[in-house]
Amino acid sequence: MKNKQLTGNEIRQSYIDFFVEKEHKFVRSSSLVPGGDATLLFTNAGMVQFKDVFLGTDQRDYQRAANSQKCMRVAGKHNDLEDVGQDDSHHTFFEMMGNWSFGDYYKKEAISYAWELLTEVWKLPKERLYATVFEDELGKIPTDEEAAEQWTLQPGFSPDHLFHVGRKDNFWEMGNTGPCGPCSEIHYDHRPEEGPITDPATLDTDRFTEIWNLVFIQYNRKGPEKLDPLPNQHVDTGLGLDRVVAILQEKNSNYRTDLFLPLVEAVQEITGDSDEERDNNFTPYRVIADHARAAAFLIADGVVPGNMGRNYVCRMITRRGYRFGGHLGINSPFLSKIASVVIDLYQDAYPELKQNRKIILSTITREEKQFQQTLENATHHLLDLLENLKTGEVVPGEVAANLYTTFGMPLEITRDIAKEKGLGVDEEGFHQAMDLHRINSGAGNAMGDLGGEEVEFYQDLLKTLQKEGKLDSGGVGYNPYENLSIPGTILALIKDDQLVQTAREKDLIQVILPETPFYMESGGQVSDTGTIEGDGWKITIKDVYQPAAGIIVHKGIVQQGSPSIGDKSTANVDIMRRKDIIRNHTATHLLHAALDKVVGEHARQAGSLVAPDHLRFDFTHNQALTENQVQAVEEEVNRRIMEDHALIIKNKSIEEAIDGGAQALFGEKYGDIVRTIKMGDFSYELCGGTHCERSNEIGLFLITSEGSTASGIRRIEAVTGREAYRLVQSRFKVLKKAAGCLSTGPDQLSDQVNAMLDLQKKAEKSRNKLLQKLAVTELKTSLENLENVSGINLLTQILDDADLDTLRMVADRFRQQVPEKGIIVLGTVIDGAPKLIAAVTEDLIKEGFKAGDLIKFVAQQVGGGGGGRPGLAEAGGKDPEKLPEALDSVADWVKK
Ligand code: ATP
Ligand code: MG
Repeated sequence: MKNKQLTGNEIRQSYIDFFVEKEHKFVRSSSLVPGGDATLLFTNAGMVQFKDVFLGTDQRDYQRAANSQKCMRVAGKHNDLEDVGQDDSHHTFFEMMGNWSFGDYYKKEAISYAWELLTEVWKLPKERLYATVFEDELGKIPTDEEAAEQWTLQPGFSPDHLFHVGRKDNFWEMGNTGPCGPCSEIHYDHRPEEGPITDPATLDTDRFTEIWNLVFIQYNRKGPEKLDPLPNQHVDTGLGLDRVVAILQEKNSNYRTDLFLPLVEAVQEITGDSDEERDNNFTPYRVIADHARAAAFLIADGVVPGNMGRNYVCRMITRRGYRFGGHLGINSPFLSKIASVVIDLYQDAYPELKQNRKIILSTITREEKQFQQTLENATHHLLDLLENLKTGEVVPGEVAANLYTTFGMPLEITRDIAKEKGLGVDEEGFHQAMDLHRINSGAGNAMGDLGGEEVEFYQDLLKTLQKEGKLDSGGVGYNPYENLSIPGTILALIKDDQLVQTAREKDLIQVILPETPFYMESGGQVSDTGTIEGDGWKITIKDVYQPAAGIIVHKGIVQQGSPSIGDKSTANVDIMRRKDIIRNHTATHLLHAALDKVVGEHARQAGSLVAPDHLRFDFTHNQALTENQVQAVEEEVNRRIMEDHALIIKNKSIEEAIDGGAQALFGEKYGDIVRTIKMGDFSYELCGGTHCERSNEIGLFLITSEGSTASGIRRIEAVTGREAYRLVQSRFKVLKKAAGCLSTGPDQLSDQVNAMLDLQKKAEKSRNKLLQKLAVTELKTSLENLENVSGINLLTQILDDADLDTLRMVADRFRQQVPEKGIIVLGTVIDGAPKLIAAVTEDLIKEGFKAGDLIKFVAQQVGGGGGGRPGLAEAGGKDPEKLPEALDSVADWVKK
């Protein structure tokens, strides 16, 4: 290669520059945590953030885009974990470069752009490049002749470098239904000296690296056998940055590029290995570099080590990285040193790394320390177990699950250790055993099933309304931020999935208007409710949502009259409910800021609900808040409320917002222009929700609970405004009532209660004393009428209301008064359960009468057990009603 060698960061930039020059819009990488998609554990391809565009439920104001997307492939359909460390081209975390056409250019341009970038900009030798196109091995989907032809037209592309490949590698599907299409993959030949190839399977050997996949989204899958052509065809490509950098820098491994070698060298600095020693034992170096990079990026996106789902992956990857350090003789936390190099290297392209530097490093170290404490124990435990297994056998699933739940040893590490000994793990059994702790490993498909039909119905409706001039190109206007009441005209009514002209009273109906003031659920804030009204009719609206880009549906019930298409209407948001909601939303921002201050900056939002009657806020923190902390947080929020801050709401480009320190939330999807909400200098968030104008409107903020939801995640629930007032009012009522019962005022209530408790304790004491005295008197009478059984003085008795002390005392007295040949068994009932005590005099013990045996015999009859010394024994049981009979049986026992 003749051109000057580019750095990895420059190569990333040159990809983006190339496509920006071709009129693509640069779009930031979305978070590793996919926005609003619960079916997917991590973003695993560049297309994830554009999924809704392909589905037609979202629109962008550009038709060409380019990006470098953070991807993670450790779960679900894409799980490359087992390759990591074994080969030089698969990582858990990696960057996927992509260029996109949404209904704009197609195969011709996509292929020629790729060829131009590879051969003219990057100057890769043409004779080393191979391409594949789709040919269906089942013969049901047409061969992609169009792509094949385009390849042969590329200057310098050798036609015998083109291969036809089947469904597995060359047909891309989003899910069981939805957009799909043929792919064309580009491969790089590392050893052209081995001569021409004839079998496409050779492309999957280590002679080649797959660098780029061009996907042509051409069809809409309606079912297993049904493919419809799409009206709008799209291009979706993915190029692995690390792989291309290795090739351009002429390295035989991704780990030897300038994006990875500094991480490897940082490990080497700790181990003191020479380069040769390092290369002879390269696997742990690869795993550590990969996992440290992945952990840093995960934590920057708000994922923390924990027990479930995404957090589990973060834990597993950190622990696994630490353990591979052990293979190199490293025995104390070290990964933060490697992660620190990751941050230095990548922070310009991914500023979230810089912003979260402290959190990333401290989180990793904390996790390593926690694991360090148990690793040794767990490993010994496992090794002992493995001793008894023969090669080829498997570690039972239950054992692997137990190692995880007791020692925090992730399955992946148990599998590593077993593998090192030539053994397997019963992973199915593991997952069964983990049922309760089930690690949610994400869905099998990148997407769930898609309601293709429904989307099309609304898309058609949108087109019709646009053609008739009733809606403009932007579709239904969404304006929940200004007026809570907006006039309009009914554009469409849908009943039972059918368009109708008119609706009747009690009909369940969907209404389309030109513009809506109703907020649609997003960012945790629930949808508005309200009414749509016209001349002589009224519809109560329960829900609002967007089934397709440009269409907003109001769902409700006709309360009165018959609304018809064309009727003048007014859409009214329920104002009181909206006000309750905005108080909770603004309070949520204050709470977030207060937690940051009181608990620490690691306490970040992990989920939230903003409803009219309460708010719920989940955040990352490892232990319960102390009572003082809860109080401090509540006080801080109320202080900010009273300070009466104005909310400054501005739209900005996402770059400007993030660079200015605005907090983005993971799990949220952001466009290029974002709405920012700022209060004072303590709260600055990206947020599309509706808010108070000033913090004062919140009134009062009260925390109603603090608890945990998942490991590493705490949850606070709170109320504001009307609900807070209601809470205070009802608490006051209870307080007043209680004080009234004691004929005192609320302020003296706790003193009064304490005084009463003291009195009660005293009364109990004297009552017990009296009962004991009574028991002693009773004993005297009983001793006069002792039963004589085979020469033994036997006393069995039920003492009503006696406590255990009383039973013991009476038994002792008996032994004093009957020093020889005496046996006593006493019973009572405490809190509904029978209690027994038995005593035997010394001389009888020598004859073989043991109080322990006796009590067991009696206790069995009342459903219990017990024991004790030969002289004195106690027991308890379950059936109080059997007590008299059980005591009667003692005489027989003595006889025997
Ligand atoms: P492979 O067969 O090599 O696993 P793939 O078919 O899974 O690749 P795609 O899903 O088509 O890959 O992803 C597009 C590109 O992303 C690939 O061509 C490759 O360059 C890159 N890529 C895929 N998986 C990884 C990974 N685990 N680590 C690094 N790069 C990857
Ligand atoms: Mg793969």
